[in-house]
Amino acid sequence: MPENTVEVLMIEDNPVHVQLIRHYMESSRLTTRLHVAGTLREGLDLIGEASFDVVLLDLVLPDSADLDTLHSVRAAAPELPVIILTGLDDVSLAATAVEAGAQDYIVKTQANTTLLSRSIHYAIERVRARSGEWDSAMFKLAQQQFLKAAQIMGLDENIRERLLFPQRTHIVTLPFRRDEYHLVENVFGYRVQHLLTMGPTKGGIRYHEDVNLGEVSALAMWMTWKCALINLPFGGAKGGVRIDPTDLSRRELQRLTRRFTSEIIDIIGPDKDIPAPDMGTDEQVMAWIMDTYSQQAGYTVPGVVTGKPVVLGGSLGRREATGRGLVYLVEAAAQHMGMSLDGATAVVQGFGNVGSNTARFLDADRVRVVAVSDVTTGIYNANGLSLEDVFKYCEKNRFLSGYPEADEVTNQELLELPCDILAPAALQNQITGDNADRLKCRLLAEGANGPTTLDADEILGEKDVFILPDVLGNAGGVTVSYFEWVQDTQNYTWTLEEINTRLHNILIDAFERTVHRASEDHIDMRTAALIEGISRVTQAKLLRGIFP
Ligand code: NAD
Repeated sequence: MPENTVEVLMIEDNPVHVQLIRHYMESSRLTTRLHVAGTLREGLDLIGEASFDVVLLDLVLPDSADLDTLHSVRAAAPELPVIILTGLDDVSLAATAVEAGAQDYIVKTQANTTLLSRSIHYAIERVRARSGEWDSAMFKLAQQQFLKAAQIMGLDENIRERLLFPQRTHIVTLPFRRDEYHLVENVFGYRVQHLLTMGPTKGGIRYHEDVNLGEVSALAMWMTWKCALINLPFGGAKGGVRIDPTDLSRRELQRLTRRFTSEIIDIIGPDKDIPAPDMGTDEQVMAWIMDTYSQQAGYTVPGVVTGKPVVLGGSLGRREATGRGLVYLVEAAAQHMGMSLDGATAVVQGFGNVGSNTARFLDADRVRVVAVSDVTTGIYNANGLSLEDVFKYCEKNRFLSGYPEADEVTNQELLELPCDILAPAALQNQITGDNADRLKCRLLAEGANGPTTLDADEILGEKDVFILPDVLGNAGGVTVSYFEWVQDTQNYTWTLEEINTRLHNILIDAFERTVHRASEDHIDMRTAALIEGISRVTQAKLLRGIFP
């Protein structure tokens, strides 16, 4: 046998199906060796004895049924790619298994040599690509959400594989001097462009100690769906530096930003890829990026970033656009649900750009904001917080910790407080299978990217919580970034009223399309929003064709 023989374990009790798959594999271009087990027990014994590249798994076996079969194989070999073999009657079970971590499924009666060998090849490729730098919970979540939507919409298989990984990734290491001149720090930086089909790419830059290629790639993928859902002429991108920005002085932050910009300067630009703020970055950081880029170009290029200060070509309304947009959507969702906002209660996790503005606009809508949090603590007052007071406190003390007019709660406790509206606006992976059941909100308004895992989605669906998914909920930011880019490239200025009216119209249009698709297709809001975005990208890809 050649060295690159693919070792395939097939756990299947029907001898006719075993014969069929064996036949397809023998005529495949892949060199494979097939091992067969007729029960789960036999399969697990083989996994314990030898090493395999992939498992073909029938979920209904004489000694195990449904997802238990998958979980047993996963427990025995967590990294082994699994392809579900299913009958036509069990396709929805197979789709659930893919959501639960299997790589793919094949309907046995529709299988053929090409389908089978491609499925095996891509399942192995995906698992390999996820190792190391790609191995992040967030990237897996973004991929699983995409695969779920792709299955439901019956996405063309070629397009599905193409969109599962970003088109370009750029990893850099860069040095910057600490204020103690002799100390030089070396850090990792990333810029990922997920899709170049739709126009320039667009996405924020994050400074956080957890940034890695997987996280940035997930964020870039979500940007693609978000821009397509909103009908903006951009593909998705994202960037970041793995560093804790709260540990840096302003001078250090400037040196780091300028050096990072120069490391990615060849791949950004107003016609190529346009960064914006994200966690840990702000208007000042955008101003330094714009200045560094302009110094190299030899003239001022305002359109290279969005989210800049207004005096440098930034747009009115950009700073608060994400929070404002989220609250426009909360208003639409509340109307849809028949919930009055006057007197409703809200909890907001994160008190940075998105969280603080969300709290402010909810408060303006007469919603009682009972709890907010930041990295240091959560603060809770069942009668409602005085936001004016909280803002003043933060201005003086930087963080919420020590705020006197409220009880202290942890960030985890905060998520479980009784409220009508819960707005996660800090980190990813906050609402999971572990705590979703204890959430008490009626409306989950996602300001953060990736705050909710797939298993939590399922639980919230059962509890009838209405979800404004991140790709829709926080799209106000990139929408006003688009306005900023248009104004920069046209040398034009719009009034705040024009900006807010256009923002409102665009978001409400996307909300209505998403609600319509969700109810027509009997699917959840997240999948509906993703399918809206993926459909537009697919249409564009098919029209452009493949070069050469
Ligand atoms: P930010 O840096 O301005 O604020 C982040 C907030 O989260 C801060 O209050 C910080 O203290 C808090 N935080 C950090 N670690 C935390 C932890 N472990 N537990 C609880 N809170 C923690 O960032 P931002 O721009 O407001 O971004 C927040 C989220 O919104 C991110 O997921 C980002 O991707 C998303 N988002 C931002 C924008 C934008 O325009 N800024 C647009 C779309 C999506």
